[in-house]
Amino acid sequence: MTTPANGPFFDEAREALDWNKRKADLNERFLKILDHVFQHSRAYLEIYRAAGIARSDIRGLDDLEKLPVLRMEDLVARQKASPPFGRFETCPPEDIRRIYINPGLIFQPGHAGGETYRDTSWAEALRGAGFQAGDRIVNTFNYHMWPLAFMLDEAAEMIGATVIPTGVGNTLMQVRIMQALKANRFIGTPSFIMTLIQRAEGMGLDVRRDLSLETALVGAEMLPESLRDRIRKKLGVSVRQVYGTVFLGCLGYECPAEKGLHVPDGVVVEIVDPRTGRQVAPGAAGELVATCLNPVYPMIRMATGDLSRFAREPCACGRTAPMLERIMGRIDQATKVRGTFVHPWQADQVVSPYPEVFKYQVVITREDDRDVMTFFVEFKEETGRADRIRARIERDIKEVLGIKGRVRTVPRGTIPDGHRKIEDRRTWD
Ligand SMILES: [Zn+2]
Repeated sequence: MTTPANGPFFDEAREALDWNKRKADLNERFLKILDHVFQHSRAYLEIYRAAGIARSDIRGLDDLEKLPVLRMEDLVARQKASPPFGRFETCPPEDIRRIYINPGLIFQPGHAGGETYRDTSWAEALRGAGFQAGDRIVNTFNYHMWPLAFMLDEAAEMIGATVIPTGVGNTLMQVRIMQALKANRFIGTPSFIMTLIQRAEGMGLDVRRDLSLETALVGAEMLPESLRDRIRKKLGVSVRQVYGTVFLGCLGYECPAEKGLHVPDGVVVEIVDPRTGRQVAPGAAGELVATCLNPVYPMIRMATGDLSRFAREPCACGRTAPMLERIMGRIDQATKVRGTFVHPWQADQVVSPYPEVFKYQVVITREDDRDVMTFFVEFKEETGRADRIRARIERDIKEVLGIKGRVRTVPRGTIPDGHRKIEDRRTWD
């Protein structure tokens, strides 16, 4: 196998191809996987039969919504009933070459013998972050049991880079290794790179001078902009995010524009209303549900529990696939207000149509023994239309959430970074 030429893309011909052509190709690959699933996966056969769906009902990606959303708890229940994989797998268990273990003893097949499928999504992410052939990467994700470190390790091989599989922990050793081998790229969590920075400083090192890092690719945790800034300033490196889940693989990554998360090739991402599984209007927030084309353990419409929305503007980098704006939190941080559940993603649905809003936070308090819901809103800049926008958001709150709420504007910088979208300040003593 030849290593693809260096550059900002892993496979430019594919990644920058006209979206309609890519969609047609994705459609074809999706239908192929679906055929495979209907033929070989007992679990999906049972699920689809119970939902009254036949293979002939699905003629392409436009029919995706007809298929039920697969939740982690369904997968776990099926694994318990039919160990170890819940019969989602499409090959005999003895063909599986590696078994990963996720917390809660949830099993996941790695690749299988004779398999020709190649997941290039993480390699796309590495290239998007600026990684090149000849780089020296410290991969600080855990190599024990979990698949993530292996996935990134294989991706590094695809782009022709060298991996130093340090795993997590051993911070003193890690700093020495990075120094001795002049590692120029880091892969790991944002909190772990902060730990390494502190450790290096504790050893009396000047992290900018004594380490050779140029880029940190971080994932598996939220990355508030304030934290990105701190890492960047400390190390003088670029910090790029990658997003994915172990069962689905990479679902989004940043390019140098850092405007959002590009969905990699071979992945179908939907934003849905978690109550119905139906896709939300373009640009609206909802739960991220994804389908990946891995033939051994296909994940079809798997719910992530993460809240996101598609970016409205295409990115200047030339990638044509859909782009997610960012991960906004979890859908399950619901709060009950006056007997009604309010989900953070619903609050986003109220506020997202207003481009004038920079940031907001919903605060729930008690006044005269009644729940009061207040949307604190920061505008991007002073606007003469503040009163009108405020009134319109109040109208939308009633419409979307079914209960009344008030809107208060606050100066920019009032709402802290990494704030909870819905803050419950009620006390019940
Ligand atoms: Zn881009």
